[in-house]
Amino acid sequence: MENIIEFKNVNKWFGKLHVLNNINLQVARGEVLVICGPSGSGKSTLIRCINRLENIHDGEIHVNKMQVHDKSANLTKLRADIGFVFQQFHLYPHMTVLQNIILAPMHVKKINRSLAEKIAMEKLDQVGLTEKANAYPIQLSGGQQQRVAIARGLAMSPDIMLFDEPTSALDPEMIGEVLDVMVNLVSEGMTMCVVTHEMGFARKVADRVLFMDEGQIIETGKPIDFFDNPTTERARGFISMIL
Ligand code: ADP
Ligand code: MG
Repeated sequence: MENIIEFKNVNKWFGKLHVLNNINLQVARGEVLVICGPSGSGKSTLIRCINRLENIHDGEIHVNKMQVHDKSANLTKLRADIGFVFQQFHLYPHMTVLQNIILAPMHVKKINRSLAEKIAMEKLDQVGLTEKANAYPIQLSGGQQQRVAIARGLAMSPDIMLFDEPTSALDPEMIGEVLDVMVNLVSEGMTMCVVTHEMGFARKVADRVLFMDEGQIIETGKPIDFFDNPTTERARGFISMIL
């Protein structure tokens, strides 16, 4: 299987803090990777490196045949191929749902408005929100806003979707609807890296769970092995806390 993401001996510091400590990681095309670990362990920094929202100090990152670590990497192209869904939805409040979704396809991919709108409506259908196309973000629930954010990512036809705690800012009753959309994406074969502590999601769809602590990958394995038989003390302690 072809690796769509590869980290080779990646190191990064924030001042004296060794936030990524010799990270080696491969993600195959179509793979669903769940990343978990305590707060401050470097999970967000790790996935933000994939589309170079963060720079690294040494090592190599290859994504979709691009050398992300290379200072001359084409970041516009890189980011056009990668959808990123954040904990906070980051929708533009002064734009409708549809306008939010067509923005990047029109300006980055130079797709004309009518085609961009057609794609946007398809993606809204995929997340179950066609009737909200002309609503403004403030008129939507948190769960609906996050589903719009996912539709916005999908409208670029990305090769990879990254999710950084996509349900952490949601009221409990809205978590399920967002996870359902993500599960559907998995069934379409999307390559996904998901920072989450939603164990149900991880058990159901993750090919692999990666556990981080203090900037290091401590343990990686199939969800059933990781959750039921963690091999390290640190992972055992973490799992007992999120259970
Ligand atoms: P996680 O997502 O696992 O909670 P992060 O990757 O956000 O962890 O952060 C890892 C560590 O790096 C934390 O100690 C955090 O305070 C620190 N950190 C994150 N971003 C910055 C930054 N821009 N400048 C300095 N320190 C940062
Ligand atoms: Mg984080």
